[in-house]
Amino acid sequence: MHFRFCLRLWAMTFAALFLAFVRVTANDVSPAPVPNEAVCVGCRGSGICGGNGCKEGQAICPATCLKRDGPGWIKKKIDGYPDDYIWQEFKWKMEDGRTGYQWFSQHHAGELIELEPNGKPVSRGRCPTCEGDSRVTCKVCKGSTRCPACVGLGKFIRGKNLFTLTDLQGRALEAAVLGRTAETVTVLRLADEQVFGIPAKNLNAESLAMLDKAFPVTPSTRQ
Ligand SMILES: [Zn+2]
Ligand SMILES: [Zn+2]
Ligand SMILES: [Zn+2]
Repeated sequence: MHFRFCLRLWAMTFAALFLAFVRVTANDVSPAPVPNEAVCVGCRGSGICGGNGCKEGQAICPATCLKRDGPGWIKKKIDGYPDDYIWQEFKWKMEDGRTGYQWFSQHHAGELIELEPNGKPVSRGRCPTCEGDSRVTCKVCKGSTRCPACVGLGKFIRGKNLFTLTDLQGRALEAAVLGRTAETVTVLRLADEQVFGIPAKNLNAESLAMLDKAFPVTPSTRQ
């Protein structure tokens, strides 16, 4: 009997201590301050697109063409050619095991280089992807030069592209909105810089109303 009483006393004491602990820690966890502005993580504040070596809206051609402004050009004296020629050097393994060398001068810049079945590099003429320019319209900014995450602002601004989005369960998310269709809101979560889509139907009416102001969905895409 005495032992049982002791056990109950201990249990009650432990429960009281536990509750006190929970209350103290709950008080300690104040909500993180919500910023009104944040530097864009896509461009680190410059507002300029940095995708695929993008320069003024033009990205490096993804094909294996000889890039006009690319690395790898070397000055080299090759018999029968003027001294001021610059070259791209390719090495390949010949059938007898020796290393073969193939050089293309600056006059081949913009040409597509492919390997023949025996491994020897050959020019296929003007690159069909970039038409010899070495650059193509950047897919990331579609040639606009603007960082797609902040549309050139360099930062996320509350009410413009930065929102606290709340879902139907009441869970809040601090996120930069990168784009929107009738079905999906593409966001960049500030906490970990992850980009993902949220189904618009999961967001509460207040969040959708905020988005409607900054990112209106055109009637043709709303359906
Ligand atoms: Zn940006
Ligand atoms: Zn090309
Ligand atoms: Zn770009």
